Amino acid sequence: SLPLVAVVGRPNVGKSMLVNRIAQADEAIVHEMRGVTRDRSYHVADWNGVKFTLVDTGGIEMGDEDAFQASIRHQAFTAVAQADVIVFLVDGRAGINADDEEVARILRKGDKPVLLAVNKLDTPGRVDEMWEFYQLGLGDPWPVSAIHGHGTGDLLDEVVVHL
Ligand code: GDP
Ligand code: MG
Repeated sequence: SLPLVAVVGRPNVGKSMLVNRIAQADEAIVHEMRGVTRDRSYHVADWNGVKFTLVDTGGIEMGDEDAFQASIRHQAFTAVAQADVIVFLVDGRAGINADDEEVARILRKGDKPVLLAVNKLDTPGRVDEMWEFYQLGLGDPWPVSAIHGHGTGDLLDEVVVHL
């Protein structure tokens, strides 16, 4: 089966926007895959001939604060267990919050390659806002704009290096 690339991060950072940009539009969902659950969707992607399955996590984002936090932790642990490469997406406009730090802690303890992508940097002037994310201890941040597609090619070049 294809290698698995999981996109994790707290709600509203742009995971689904990024996945929909990267995935092939006409192959939105891989049906009948084992382990498909309501809180994840699987998409086929191809970058310069390298095919992989892209997992969009975190569909369940309601409930009380405890359930919400448990869900974020669960997605991070599942990604560490199952993915070949993890893209940890954060919101470059909102900055770092406690949920980002919690996910980062889990990912740092895991043994999978993690690419930290900083989203919503839509204009060149905003790219400087990625530097604060060094604090998450996951190496160089990759600036992206899921809406415009800026930076996604460089990010994917790095993803496939690890597949
Ligand atoms: P998810 O909850 O992480 O899956 O986030 P979504 O993909 O649903 O996006 C959450 C919100 O962020 C939506 O209103 C998007 O339009 C917005 N968004 C996503 N990517 C970008 C981006 O690159 N730039 C800007 N400005 N907004 C974005
Ligand atoms: Mg989503």
